[in-house]
Amino acid sequence: MTVHTAAPPQASSGLQWRNRYAALGPEYHTRLLPTPLPSPYWVGRSEALARTMGLAPDWLHGNDALAALTGNQPLPGSEPLATVYSGHQFGVWAGQLGDGRALLLGETQGGLEVQLKGAGRTPYSRMGDGRAVLRSSIREFLCSEAMQALSIPTTRALCVTGSDAPVRREEIETAAVVTRVAPSFIRFGHFEHFAANEQLVELRRLADFVIDSFYPQCRTTGKFAGNPYAALLEAVSERTAALMAQWQAVGFCHGVMNTDNMSILGLTLDYGPFQFLDGYDPAHVCNHSDTQGRYAYARQPNIAYWNLHCLGQALLPLIGEPDLALAALESYRTVFPAELETRLRAKLGLRQSHPDDRALIEDILKLLAQEHTDHTIFWRRLSHHVAGSEAQAVRDLFRDRAGFDAWLRRYETRLALEDATACAATMLRSNPKFVLRNHLGELAIRQARDKDFSGVARLLALLENPFDEHPGHDAEAGFPPDWASAIEISCSS
Ligand code: AMP
Ligand code: MG
Repeated sequence: MTVHTAAPPQASSGLQWRNRYAALGPEYHTRLLPTPLPSPYWVGRSEALARTMGLAPDWLHGNDALAALTGNQPLPGSEPLATVYSGHQFGVWAGQLGDGRALLLGETQGGLEVQLKGAGRTPYSRMGDGRAVLRSSIREFLCSEAMQALSIPTTRALCVTGSDAPVRREEIETAAVVTRVAPSFIRFGHFEHFAANEQLVELRRLADFVIDSFYPQCRTTGKFAGNPYAALLEAVSERTAALMAQWQAVGFCHGVMNTDNMSILGLTLDYGPFQFLDGYDPAHVCNHSDTQGRYAYARQPNIAYWNLHCLGQALLPLIGEPDLALAALESYRTVFPAELETRLRAKLGLRQSHPDDRALIEDILKLLAQEHTDHTIFWRRLSHHVAGSEAQAVRDLFRDRAGFDAWLRRYETRLALEDATACAATMLRSNPKFVLRNHLGELAIRQARDKDFSGVARLLALLENPFDEHPGHDAEAGFPPDWASAIEISCSS
């Protein structure tokens, strides 16, 4: 009798690679393999993204995927590399940065790039160890998928794998790798890099690559006297403006809006010390390392505009005329307020336009800011009130009852001009019940440190459908516990 001891054959990934970033040339990257991690294990997986990517159904549950996505075994056809970029950090030119711990594996079918974040040292690691810790990897994984479900442009995360390998931060933690997925991870900083080094041939090739791949209309629009690079700057400004409006509306703080963390596609990119607001406070700073409050919640839209000026400066050698660059940037100043108004109107369920709407919006935001009212809970309760429940649950959120009641009367008069059922439906689709609050992530992380990953999966399931009620999960939609305000999230990840 023959005894077969070999492991059963595993499904192949189904991934087919092409590597256009690798083909750009050695000026743009350094090729190298990930540094393996011992005894990896699964921490979290997004089945939804696996389906989008066309992965073979069982592959993401097998040992081949575990090894490959931890960086322990190459994926046939991929060509791992670290890209070089530079950037402005906290408003100051930082010079060369680059992928210090992320490796791009290549691009798969459907035009999605795959990156392993935390895959070991690269020539751009500077003083860093090339690793990412379990805590921040779980946060990035959950938030990427949460943003996607909120229809906010973002890089995605396919999975997190962990290892008991120690990683030194303020304390000793353990290592993890996030598999990130996006059409492109190109940042403003990639352009700044080649501009600062006066590598104009490389700068142009990169801009042409981005235009041809993602913004082909820039070649044909009649705007800017047919200048495609000015058209690119305008298109990026518009996407960034729309993104900022969405962040403001949902109460998202990025925490490190350095130009090296700004996506050329207008995606939310590089989840570090981010936070969804608990109480609504325009001055809220979520990054413990941001002592000046540069990236405070309400400052984000202006910071994005500042960052776009850095991009404009970098593209200037291609655009030629400073006036054209300024004209391209100007679009931000109309698109951002228009997008924000659209988002806020949807939050209030206002479908038709009315001259009083702006004051209605401004006044409720003022009231929320005065009282630091819980942002997510307020909007959700208001939605339920418009859908038919008593106003008391919303009123209970305010100390200034008279002030709130006065606003509510105006709002209800205004709502009478609309179709109530349609308003309520819009609001319940615009105001999520579940967002990734710091304390929710923290609880899942604590469990994961004890090798119980069920909390990560449970939270993912809620965040993947944040507008659904999920009976039995009201705790995750409730007020943050007292200890939540003591959580300190810094750049250290
Ligand atoms: P971040 O603040 O995470 O956007 O990172 C800024 C720069 O530091 C980027 O070039 C990162 O690749 C690099 N970096 C951050 N953490 C590490 C690390 N642990 N090891 C190597 N490079 C890192
Ligand atoms: Mg970064």
